[in-house]
Amino acid sequence: MTTIIIGGGLAGLASAYRLAGKDEIILIEKEPELGGMASSYKIGKYHIEKYYHHIFASDKELISLIEELGLSNRLEWLKGTTGYYFNSKIYPMNTPIEILAALPLMDVIRLTWLVLKAKSIKDRTPFDTITAKEWIIDTAGESVYNNFFLPLLSGKFGDNKEKVSAAWLLGRVQIRSNRGPKGERLGYMRGGFESLIEKMGGNIRNMGGIINKGNVSRIEIAGGSIKGVVVDGDHVECDRVISTVAPHVLEKIIDTKMPGLDMNISYQGTACALFGLTEKIMDDIYWLNIKEDVPFGAVIEHTNFIPETDYGERLMYVTTYFQNMESVLWKSRDEEVIGLYLNGLEKLFPGFRKKVKWWRLRRDMDTAPVYETGYGRKILPYETRIKGLFLAGMFSDSNYPERSMNGSIIAGYRCAETVLRQF
Ligand SMILES: Cc1cc2nc3c(=O)[nH]c(=O)nc-3n(C[C@H](O)[C@H](O)[C@H](O)COP(=O)(O)OP(=O)(O)OC[C@H]3O[C@@H](n4cnc5c(N)ncnc54)[C@H](O)[C@@H]3O)c2cc1C
Repeated sequence: MTTIIIGGGLAGLASAYRLAGKDEIILIEKEPELGGMASSYKIGKYHIEKYYHHIFASDKELISLIEELGLSNRLEWLKGTTGYYFNSKIYPMNTPIEILAALPLMDVIRLTWLVLKAKSIKDRTPFDTITAKEWIIDTAGESVYNNFFLPLLSGKFGDNKEKVSAAWLLGRVQIRSNRGPKGERLGYMRGGFESLIEKMGGNIRNMGGIINKGNVSRIEIAGGSIKGVVVDGDHVECDRVISTVAPHVLEKIIDTKMPGLDMNISYQGTACALFGLTEKIMDDIYWLNIKEDVPFGAVIEHTNFIPETDYGERLMYVTTYFQNMESVLWKSRDEEVIGLYLNGLEKLFPGFRKKVKWWRLRRDMDTAPVYETGYGRKILPYETRIKGLFLAGMFSDSNYPERSMNGSIIAGYRCAETVLRQF
């Protein structure tokens, strides 16, 4: 029996890692490198993620996998300082005292009440049908919504901000509020998450799995069963397919309609620039959310989190989500997007342009599902009604109410277990 895994992101790698040696595995990835959203650039002698990444203490499966692969010595827990840019000023937002300096006292009291209430909610299911906006205003009032949450929601979901469910918000608050009096600790693998991806790929190959570069343009079905796939124009026979691609991509490449599943899950894109810099930009802020008229939602000074000595230069991400292919951030050339970002950066940090040594820009359309109300009912199962077709990815239950590396690793494992149960 042969299983084809479509996609070499963490979901595909995790399922291949669990299945290799137990089944004939061929993993097919269309990009030159593995890792999907968590893949890295090679810049000189170091690797750095194309999209900023860190992990949380609650990411248990990912932390166990790092241990299992003998990479624990690379995982470090560091202070992830945050700030807010508004009224032409940076406000650090790490400690209760700093938050008090940035927001009116009544807002801080109401925000604290909202966080305590969110943390006490165990079952998020009923909150899938109400919007985050409704729940915030109901719980803490309009001022907390406008001053604190609105810029965050706009930065994350753009025009979709009012559609996002309270279940998503509760999940985020529950993860992000375990910060203690000195601020939040975030996990990062020194040398980059590339070492995790490389090790997973190496282990899959050592266990007999095959990893190929190729674009899957068709999944062939006959009589309700998987028959094969078409990779770069060639037919490859197989008995099973694990698809990790976005549902709307799967719909385009599969021979038949997906029985009994709602594949209408909206995704949003990301345009993320990485700048190599000659100098430090912010005093001690890693992650800066921005409420200002600039074409990006956050600035992430990576070398205020990981020491500059790991790279020999300063690194900073500038990023925003966009909602569809009509966005100027998707349609414009790389140089034009960087030009827009540089104009905005000059506004926030005069003289920024002169400090830029080089830049890279990464843009993808399917970087995160939009967790709209009713999303909970659309979560896709690991096994489908098409014999031999399995699914794992950002659309799986483990990635709700927020997608993550940990969520895709769990999805890959659960999918592999579902396949193995059929042996
Ligand atoms: C801006 C940004 C920041 C993030 N920050 C964090 C963070 O700090 N912490 C965290 O835990 N998570 C973070 N994530 C989320 C995390 O990276 C993803 O949830 C996870 O990596 C998704 O893995 P996946 O395998 O499900 O999907 P993907 O990584 O999207 O993998 C799917 C793969 O399928 C391939 N593919 C698609 N179509 C085809 C085809 N037809 N043929 C062959 N291959 C195909 C793609 O090239 C891709 O490699 C972030 C993501 C983004 C975009």
